[in-house]
Amino acid sequence: MLPFVSTRNASAKQSDFIHAILYPQAPDNGLWTLQHLPHIDWSAYLDLGYDELCKAVFENLHIMPPQSLANSHTNSYANANTFADALTHALKLYKRFDDPTNPAPLHKLGNAYFLELYHGPTRAFKDMALSPFGAIFASVAKDQNKQFLILTATSGDTGPATLESFANQPNIKVVCLYPKGGTSEVQALQMITNPAQNIKVFGIDGNFDDAQSALKNLLNDKEFLQNLDSHNFSLSVANSVNFGRIAFQIVYHIWGYLQLVKNGSIKYGEKIYSVIPSGNFGNALGAFFAKKTGLPIEKIIIASNKNNILTEFIQSGIYDISTRTLQKTLSPAMDILKSSNVERILFALFGDVRTKELLNSLQQQSKYVLTKDELALLQQDFLAWWCDDCRTQSIIKSTFAKGYIIDPHTAIAYGAYQELCANSNNPKALIASTAEWSKFAPSVAESISDKKLNDTQAIAKMCENGAKISPAIMALFDKPIIHKQVIHSSEIKHEILRWIQSDKK
Ligand SMILES: *Cc1c(COP(=O)(O)O)cnc(C)c1O
Repeated sequence: MLPFVSTRNASAKQSDFIHAILYPQAPDNGLWTLQHLPHIDWSAYLDLGYDELCKAVFENLHIMPPQSLANSHTNSYANANTFADALTHALKLYKRFDDPTNPAPLHKLGNAYFLELYHGPTRAFKDMALSPFGAIFASVAKDQNKQFLILTATSGDTGPATLESFANQPNIKVVCLYPKGGTSEVQALQMITNPAQNIKVFGIDGNFDDAQSALKNLLNDKEFLQNLDSHNFSLSVANSVNFGRIAFQIVYHIWGYLQLVKNGSIKYGEKIYSVIPSGNFGNALGAFFAKKTGLPIEKIIIASNKNNILTEFIQSGIYDISTRTLQKTLSPAMDILKSSNVERILFALFGDVRTKELLNSLQQQSKYVLTKDELALLQQDFLAWWCDDCRTQSIIKSTFAKGYIIDPHTAIAYGAYQELCANSNNPKALIASTAEWSKFAPSVAESISDKKLNDTQAIAKMCENGAKISPAIMALFDKPIIHKQVIHSSEIKHEILRWIQSDKK
């Protein structure tokens, strides 16, 4: 029995981890997800380092192919040992984070413990999964002697982390689409200055939705796929519909909790809250899996901006896109209406038949509604809160006054916690801190000083105020710009094929 099934048809073909990450599309248009969530006593893993904990998570959730099944896995991977070696190698990349022994440290403000997930190369939490993910993916591709084209559309953080992850990896090419003018300057520089030969970055004349839907069309474009095939490329994606991302995002929630036990803040078994600024729900899904396998989490609090479709869903059971249009905010990574990973929650709580029914309704009527009982079940695991840009800025300002600098996404999560605090008795919580302030320096500096500044000025202003900036971010401003091309979404297909062909010679 293999660990992964489709969210929309669990009795169709099953998958192992390798197949699920190479070919993320599951039967019936579903997503690959874990069939079973075993109960695990995580207190047994208190003494492990981060990479050892990651392996323990993979083994316990059966993500890692067990030795005994090695021979039945020949289609996907040469053998279980090779996969274990690839994983060991990939996990070494965490040693490049700020603290080689702890990729995700805590910062305490009262009973709020910020789990800082941004100490990797591109300064956002996407590195927590994408750093090892690229290395694993490439090693599998090489093992199978296959070439992959990875497509990614980004609103700002996924792009840089994906490029960093796959740069110079064998058997891989990456095309990254970003909305020209729609990201912060730092985010854009992180992409367009990347010198690796196997990547191509296009600015899109349009918004993130345009880039995203152009990409989705390509995934189903027969002519495009055949053309890639004739150049010996298969297509894959690296966003959080890919379970490879989710797998690594389960680990740090457990790590955060165990750190609290180790430093004496809590006793193992004490329930705490987990607060997550959410967009595509990949980070929150990791927390959900951790909770379902026994990590003592009271509730997962989903924090959103003005695009508050997740708040409405968790509070009312109604997921309704039909009346909404996407609004730009200071927390662009959460500007999203179709939150892909909610589908995996629906599967875990209500099963494949109901998930398919709900998602069909979303496709046909841009809406679905849970029953009263289903909503009650959802609310056993989740709470939700949202706030607008003005409130976000005031949270950044008041937190700065306490001597701590947070980015707009983290600020919304902290706001959700403070709101909860006002109603409960100062509960202990892990706040997922998803980006370093430096990626959103103009909004952070404006929150604190009321001045409108560009990226360079804002970074200087923040450093005057005692902020530390990572050398990798500062260096960006002096790097040559390599990817200058800005295209219309109608030209994407042609330009990608042209690049693949020209590179062959
Ligand atoms: C991607 C991102 C999020 C949203 O995470 P999801 O897993 O998509 O819910 C929040 N904050 C930042 C800074 C991000 O880059």
